[in-house]
Amino acid sequence: MYCPSCENLMPDDSKYCARCGMFLNKRSEKLVHLCMDFAWIWRRSWGGFVSGFIGWIIVFIISRMVRDDIGVLMNNVFSGMICGVFLGTVGGIIEESSYKAFCGAVLGTVGGALGGLINIPATEIFGRYEGLSSLSILVTWAVGGAFIGAASGIIERSKRKILAGTIFGFLGGALGGFLGSAFYGSVIIEFKPEGWFASRLVEGSSGGIVGAVLWFFIGIIEKLYIFHRREDPKLNEKKCDSCGHRNPLRSWYCSNCGNVLQTAAPRQKIVVTPYRGMERVVNGLRFLSWLFGFTGIVTTPVVFFIFLFRDVFLAFISAVFFVLFTYLMVVGFRFLADLMSGFMRIASAKNDAKV
Ligand SMILES: [Zn+2]
Ligand SMILES: [Zn+2]
Repeated sequence: MYCPSCENLMPDDSKYCARCGMFLNKRSEKLVHLCMDFAWIWRRSWGGFVSGFIGWIIVFIISRMVRDDIGVLMNNVFSGMICGVFLGTVGGIIEESSYKAFCGAVLGTVGGALGGLINIPATEIFGRYEGLSSLSILVTWAVGGAFIGAASGIIERSKRKILAGTIFGFLGGALGGFLGSAFYGSVIIEFKPEGWFASRLVEGSSGGIVGAVLWFFIGIIEKLYIFHRREDPKLNEKKCDSCGHRNPLRSWYCSNCGNVLQTAAPRQKIVVTPYRGMERVVNGLRFLSWLFGFTGIVTTPVVFFIFLFRDVFLAFISAVFFVLFTYLMVVGFRFLADLMSGFMRIASAKNDAKV
């Protein structure tokens, strides 16, 4: 059997792993599974925090600039759309799938726009009662979250999974929206942040809370139900449930019909590097590279059009600046990630040579 903690191969009757000392039985297997599931959900939650943080700062800055020009209705819709784009792409960015990031972005845009629209009557209703005003943001992100939560179920092409994702997205968005706006309100009242940096930090954190809670909920339902796969330690190839086509172990999607494959490759048959800590850093850098690229794509045209109304020259200059900045960030983080994984490859090649 393989040690669940360090993947070391041990004789089947061993009680302890000779390499890391882990006790080996059914319970240790379960424990490790639980930790891995939690880490998986935690990554999404962190991704949600970073995305929400950046999205909210951008929206706060833009809406302060244009609110008087475009009115409350359009401002709400635009804000919801931009925040929705950022929250919607998290899953796709973490899985490094542009297709999924795109699906999430479209759903996030629609959900965010609808949520922003509904926010107007909701603010009017809840504004009449003292202490209930943060409930209007709850309604906005419950709607936005429901759309974002549907994304992975749509890719899996299953109505039940879409429904499950929608419900969890709704709940996560509602709780996240409530906590984020409660946080924002209380910090503004208690601490009255004044500096530019402090204000952006508070705005960003309130969006970060929305994203973290939303993606914690979506992560739970994705891990436990939507992405649930049959496990078979003897598996050598992945047979497609809908068309029967046989796919190699590494594939996620059927190469014949495009459906998601419902079996999991045995963990022991996937190559695990001995540099997991480093790998996490590399994945973090890749995430940032993607996110900056995405931010650039969303903000450059928005900034361009906003400035266009005031000064054509300024609009061009700032658009060029945004493109350059985005490019530098994308390439910079990518370069660091590649550099680190290059080192890992060299190091493991040396280890292999020794053995
Ligand atoms: Zn071990
Ligand atoms: Zn198929």
